[in-house]
Amino acid sequence: MRPAIVIATCNQGKISELAVLLKNFKIEVKSLADFGPIPEVVEDGDTFEANAYKKASQTARILGLPAMADDSGLCVDALNGAPGVFSARYFGAGISDTHRCQRLLQQMEDKTDRKAVFECVISIAMPGGAALTYQASCQGLIADKISGTNGFGYDPIFYYPPLDKTFAQLSQVEKNRISHRGKALAEVNQEFDKIIQWIEIHERNYNDSGFNPKK
Ligand code: IMP
Repeated sequence: MRPAIVIATCNQGKISELAVLLKNFKIEVKSLADFGPIPEVVEDGDTFEANAYKKASQTARILGLPAMADDSGLCVDALNGAPGVFSARYFGAGISDTHRCQRLLQQMEDKTDRKAVFECVISIAMPGGAALTYQASCQGLIADKISGTNGFGYDPIFYYPPLDKTFAQLSQVEKNRISHRGKALAEVNQEFDKIIQWIEIHERNYNDSGFNPKK
């Protein structure tokens, strides 16, 4: 039987990026939508790594299956690293991505230093708590205005100089090649045969330990 892994996010943008990248592996990829509602994970860590591990490990524990989660965000030099771990809810939870981009552009109006970096940490956690961590980043600049309609989040204002486009002007394939998440996933990709073995060994140990509530 193929092992399964749950992608621990409700973000459709991320699910489709991850599903494309994992489709060639001998693993059944599930998303949270395949299960009933589970308690929401409070992302209160100080770092991307802490939040990624919290999302992956809590989901794995609740569902009794290996889970993969990423935590990512935009860090802007002129804003001392903000929005950082607060990227998803910067300026409040109830506003649209477009509005969030506009507000960030306003904060950047008088700034000449436009440097920014997207960071991504991926955590693959087992129900027993063991985890693997992968990390990558992508450097760019905060644009002067919104450009492009693809992607999600801050893509329309993240200008990537080597391609002379914002992330929102790239196709998903182009973005996956160079983005923080694409690069972190490329590392996961490269090691995935080993990761599957790691999952199988931990599943065996977990089942043998008698801790698995599904047994
Ligand atoms: P997370 O779901 O807690 O990782 O939230 C990360 C937030 O950072 C998202 O809601 C976006 O606002 C932003 N973000 C992360 N990755 C990207 C990306 O690839 N493009 C645009 N925004 C991103």
